[in-house]
Amino acid sequence: MKKTEFSDYRTAADVDSIRHSFLDNLYFVQARFPEVASLNDFYLALAWTVRDRLLSNWIDTASTYYRQASRSVCYLSAEYLPGPHLRNAMLALGIEPQIRKAMTALGLNLDEIAAQEPEPGLGNGGLGRLAACYLDSLATLQIPAIGYGIRYEFGIFEQAIRDERQVELADKWLRGGNPWEVPRPEINFEIGFGGTTDHYRDESGRYRVRWHPQRLVKGVAYDTPIPGYRVATVNLLRLWNAQACESFNLDAFNLGDYERAVDEKIASETISKVLYPNDEPMQGKRLRLEQEYFFCSCTIQDIIRLLLQQNSSLELLPEKFAIQLNDTHPAIAVAELMRLLIDVHEMDWDDAWKLVRRSVSYTNHTLLPEALETWPVELFGEILPRHLEILYEINRRFLDRVRMQAPDDVGLLARLSLIDERFGRSVRMAHLASVASHTINGVAKLHSRLLQQRVLKDFHTLDPQRFTNVTNGVTPRRFLILANPTLTGLINDTIGDAWTKDLARLQELEEWAGKSDFQAAWREVKLHNKQLLAQTIRNTSGMEVEATSLLDCQIKRFHEYKRQHLNILHIIGRYLDLKQGLYPDAPARTWLFSGKAAPGYHFAKLIIELIHAVANRVNADPDVRDRMRIAFLPNFNVSSAERIYPAADLSEQISTAGMEASGTGNMKFALNGALTIGTLDGANIEIRQRVGAENFFLFGLTESEVATRRAGNTQPRDHYLNDPQLRAVIDAINDGLFSAGDGNRFRPLVENLLGHDHFFVLEDYSAYRTSQQHVDHVWNDKSKWTRASILNTARCGWFSSDRAIKEYCERIWRVSPVAIKQQSAT
Ligand SMILES: *Cc1c(COP(=O)(O)O)cnc(C)c1O
Repeated sequence: MKKTEFSDYRTAADVDSIRHSFLDNLYFVQARFPEVASLNDFYLALAWTVRDRLLSNWIDTASTYYRQASRSVCYLSAEYLPGPHLRNAMLALGIEPQIRKAMTALGLNLDEIAAQEPEPGLGNGGLGRLAACYLDSLATLQIPAIGYGIRYEFGIFEQAIRDERQVELADKWLRGGNPWEVPRPEINFEIGFGGTTDHYRDESGRYRVRWHPQRLVKGVAYDTPIPGYRVATVNLLRLWNAQACESFNLDAFNLGDYERAVDEKIASETISKVLYPNDEPMQGKRLRLEQEYFFCSCTIQDIIRLLLQQNSSLELLPEKFAIQLNDTHPAIAVAELMRLLIDVHEMDWDDAWKLVRRSVSYTNHTLLPEALETWPVELFGEILPRHLEILYEINRRFLDRVRMQAPDDVGLLARLSLIDERFGRSVRMAHLASVASHTINGVAKLHSRLLQQRVLKDFHTLDPQRFTNVTNGVTPRRFLILANPTLTGLINDTIGDAWTKDLARLQELEEWAGKSDFQAAWREVKLHNKQLLAQTIRNTSGMEVEATSLLDCQIKRFHEYKRQHLNILHIIGRYLDLKQGLYPDAPARTWLFSGKAAPGYHFAKLIIELIHAVANRVNADPDVRDRMRIAFLPNFNVSSAERIYPAADLSEQISTAGMEASGTGNMKFALNGALTIGTLDGANIEIRQRVGAENFFLFGLTESEVATRRAGNTQPRDHYLNDPQLRAVIDAINDGLFSAGDGNRFRPLVENLLGHDHFFVLEDYSAYRTSQQHVDHVWNDKSKWTRASILNTARCGWFSSDRAIKEYCERIWRVSPVAIKQQSAT
């Protein structure tokens, strides 16, 4: 039977069919009737309704890929932050208007229903969000691709603020059921841990190794459809869930040892239980390494299964799959692929290694040496004894090759080795990823350059042609069309809608930038978005913010290098100035902060505390409250991001130069018409080049100045002593102005700044303050500001993730689009 024979109202896109299938799903999937259904029942019924339409395209996509056996991208990422699916899926399919009508006909409100969806918080921030943008672009560009990751039962913690402090609550995102995933119990693999290896010669005299794991866990696939925008392509996000192996705990069960059987079940499931809430790797955490290996082994076994299912031989692996490592979290996949090829599929080492080297590529995301992932050799060998052997062998062969090129350079060998021998022995995951990859890329021009000059300098010297840059991008579907429908409407009315698939065409807005009518309409949109955000802030914190004030936003993970404390120091400075009548013409400003701090990162949490303490004083002070407001929106996530980026006037991108690999928040702000105040760091540099220096507020040390200062002997206290305004700020904190006289509360923060100030907050303070005054100055010229805002949007189309993905496809993966023809009669 052909699929077309049974796709009727279940997949059709007209209002009547949609209403019909919505009720059908409400009755027969949710088992509810409208009179007693909850909002969540309605949400689930609508999600099933949209999902049926996705699955129809999905099947067309999968069968086309199966028939054509085209080269596919396998994107390996330990994190994904896709945001709520429902609205994005309706947008992709182009059925939102009909759905809205169908809901209205039933007396329901689509927006209320959509707001029910909990978002999958399967990532910490930028890295996971990037992976989600890339999956969106891959599907939109019709590239065969599978995203592989972990189905964490608990995602990134929910942040609440109590008594000015962050508290963490468990993220129970699966509580209400997840209609977007399709469990695939038949796609499962056994994953071993621990145990011993056994080296022997087989009957034909071949040297073989057998791994006898001490423990087995089962990985089960859960598939989420990823629709392309206005194309029939629906790709796959395959997340692995850890379960107990029946075969394994049955032994204990049969022996009557029920408790052990249950304990093993719990221990197995723990592996995919929770996302580690740190931006930086968890050095030495056994469970984290188990998670990484678990997901990589499932993924590599699945890739081999797909390859053999297409009747391809293993030799065709590089022709059929491009395996991308999103940072080093999946780097262990390299050793797992080697193990499967040589131990299980009996391939020779050299042949296997060639296949690896032609299939794998690696994206580095960080330069911070302390953030590079390493594992103690002992722990690694305990959990993955066979993989440690393979790693040693990769290393031996690699270093032999280096030795031939540079026989006398002992230092070079030590620096390149996969094993860091300096402080106890540890495995360098970035080196493993680097030796195995045909291409290594950074995520912005500056970052890629520093990667080549510092972190992977010796690898670059050996093989410069393997290095490249792909500057990050963001999807315009979620961060313009969905997040900013009013601006989307204005742009469509002005230049048409071709920009949604070719974002560079936003350039056509340039000729409108100086026209006063268009400027007025542009300001109208911004004001509207600010009113919506003000509503959100009112609902969450009860705080009133004035939508006409300059909205100044810093929303991102809390981290010293991102320097939220530089921002709050400047706010305190302005407060003190206004109190003294020193800045009488300061325009009204609202500062908005949002972001989580890793639970164990005390300093970052103290910055959150300081922001709240300052806000509580300033917001309550009648002397300044008409010109200063400070808001903190708790629990920053994709949903709240979608409300903030479109409302912002000013985007704070103030990291210490050389420390933010790229940033993507900076792009989302600029695309929504915010002006940036920022340092020459990450993609800020490229944003400034594109929007023009006159439309960007630059300040601060450059990366090379930072490097020079680090090498020298700077005294942060000198800035305190020489700048009276800065001194007043620090003294105010120290005297307890924001902590009811308790000078101790923020002492660690003050001492850190005056003592070593590793992130040059005090050094950059005065330049930042000057730049902020320039911001006020431009803001007071409405036409000038609006023109700059329009130009930011018009000139940032290049930062689309479609552009980034095209670069990956052409330069790294060598994959081409495969058009999908819809076979259903929709
Ligand atoms: C864009 C985004 C980030 C990354 O923001 P940066 O400013 O680049 O650090 C993190 N979290 C969410 C939810 C985002 O949408």
